[in-house]
Amino acid sequence: MFTTEKLGPHQYVVSCSCGRSWTGHTRGKTKAKAAAHALGLNRALCPHPEKKAYPTRQAVLKGKARTWKISPGGGSPAREVYRCRCLSWHLTTKSRQGRL
Ligand SMILES: [Zn+2]
Ligand SMILES: [Zn+2]
Repeated sequence: MFTTEKLGPHQYVVSCSCGRSWTGHTRGKTKAKAAAHALGLNRALCPHPEKKAYPTRQAVLKGKARTWKISPGGGSPAREVYRCRCLSWHLTTKSRQGRL
């Protein structure tokens, strides 16, 4: 996936296995650029690109709590959270398990 190299005291380079690389002043910021790129790639794998993608379980649970309070457009609030093949988390109104 990613390799991180330290080029100097304030210079890092993160390279992806696809050949792209990013430079930055801190390890964290440089890695974040690479992570955003990975998320973009994974997004292409998503069977439900119209759904909001949450990066972590914590984030999706927060989003879920919000939909219970406001039901947008009068639709049914989301009931379940699941990890998608795009490696993000989604909300679904279906309570069925296993099928993504
Ligand atoms: Zn890549
Ligand atoms: Zn997805």
